[in-house]
Amino acid sequence: MKGNDIRESYLSFFENKKDHLRLKSFSLIPKDDPSLLLIGAGMAPLKPFFTGKVEPPRHRITTSQKCIRTGDIGNVGYTARHHTFFEMLGNFSFGDYFKKEAISWAWEFLTEVIKLDSSRLYVTIYPDDKEAYDYWHTMIGLPENHIYPLADNFWEIGEGPCGPDSEIFFDQGEEFGTDPENQMGGDGDRFLEIWNLVFSQYDRQKDGSYLPLAKKNIDTGAGLERLAAVLQHKKNNFETDLFFPIIEEASTLSGVSYGKSAQGDVALKVISDHARAITNMIADGILPSNEGRGYVLRRILRRAVRFGKLLGIQDPFMGHMIDVVIDMMKPAYPELLDKQAYIKKVAGMEEERFQTTLNAGIDLLSEMIEDTQKHNEKNISGERVFKLYDTYGFPWELTQEIAAEKGLSVDKAGFEAAMAEQKERARAARAKVSAKVATPDTTKLDISSLSTIDEDGTTKLLLVGK
Ligand code: ATP
Ligand code: MG
Ligand code: MG
Ligand code: MG
Repeated sequence: MKGNDIRESYLSFFENKKDHLRLKSFSLIPKDDPSLLLIGAGMAPLKPFFTGKVEPPRHRITTSQKCIRTGDIGNVGYTARHHTFFEMLGNFSFGDYFKKEAISWAWEFLTEVIKLDSSRLYVTIYPDDKEAYDYWHTMIGLPENHIYPLADNFWEIGEGPCGPDSEIFFDQGEEFGTDPENQMGGDGDRFLEIWNLVFSQYDRQKDGSYLPLAKKNIDTGAGLERLAAVLQHKKNNFETDLFFPIIEEASTLSGVSYGKSAQGDVALKVISDHARAITNMIADGILPSNEGRGYVLRRILRRAVRFGKLLGIQDPFMGHMIDVVIDMMKPAYPELLDKQAYIKKVAGMEEERFQTTLNAGIDLLSEMIEDTQKHNEKNISGERVFKLYDTYGFPWELTQEIAAEKGLSVDKAGFEAAMAEQKERARAARAKVSAKVATPDTTKLDISSLSTIDEDGTTKLLLVGK
């Protein structure tokens, strides 16, 4: 089953068989939601329907939502299942059906529509959720040893609607590993999490107590790329038809074949993953910048360029990658075609700009790494790294990543101290100059105000301000 067919069969199952309203994916840019930087889950754009702030067009909705999870960036290429950009299939109930239907329809879709082998399916439940246990065990007939209680299975963010969840896993087989990581509950890829069913049944109060919600909701999310991997019997998402042509393009551009070396494969996967993220972020109106979501885009794009460099790609290449991404995604997202030239232009300009920075910075950083190793040290001086950043705008994360590849770390405290010192010098200098001060250099990023992006893409960030 092709990726595009899986998406369609999911949406039409819930639309035609279960009476849901099918909506198009919402933009990656959250609307009227300052708590979110980017959409990282199918439920995120539907929040006003969950809280009751806005009346939904129907009490059952289904979508395939474009998502970005920057928190997973470090996993990309290393696990079989994580992307920065992916599509989340979801069915939602706003005060309509609840646990029983959510569980039985998920099972019906998996075992009857896409025909997964039910003996390889496992679920986790919240330990106190006796109801979920009974539905899985008694109604569905799932054996007890396929049902894992897990204290983590409770979904909440601060006050408001929250509740237990239940996740569905597919056992990809022992060849994925037999170590503890690859047992149920471990973080390996053998038991692949394909679908999360969230039962929002409580209303968390200010004082931390939980009251039952008058109108209970269902929020589910299933990764399209993961379902494709399972259905296409592939070891990882990147080998599915949703990805492989992008990998092949990166391979053609670099002359590095897929499957030849672990390091080469990581780079090919990172470039392909990031090409999808870049294409969709720019299409949704994000521009590279030094703050907020523009910074996320810049960081992803620069990372892709650097991995291209690692593979030996000399010329600008993002444009070619974007062509392939659009060609593959256009059946589901025809609007990408109208924006193709624009997306390539934006990405291309940023790529060129970064090439200049990279070339200058990489040579200097190599010297620093050699120096550090010569002195048998494990930590690169923060002061020197700051110079690299200050003079060349060389991103801090990149320094850290390149250093880590050589088994070194960077003295962050020293870096921050140098930054603070420089700020102080600048402040003092400004104080001397009476009125007009030079405009700040926005090409450089102030990492001291860089806050983290949560795993689920929520809150935090909004950095900078030099
Ligand atoms: P994992 O434990 O594998 O990181 P998760 O528990 O963080 O996944 P959820 O937040 O429950 O994922 O999201 C719902 C579904 O979306 C997951 O079951 C999975 O199929 C898919 N998904 C989540 N994160 C990613 C990602 N980074 N790339 C691709 N698919 C993802
Ligand atoms: Mg999980
Ligand atoms: Mg999950
Ligand atoms: Mg995760």
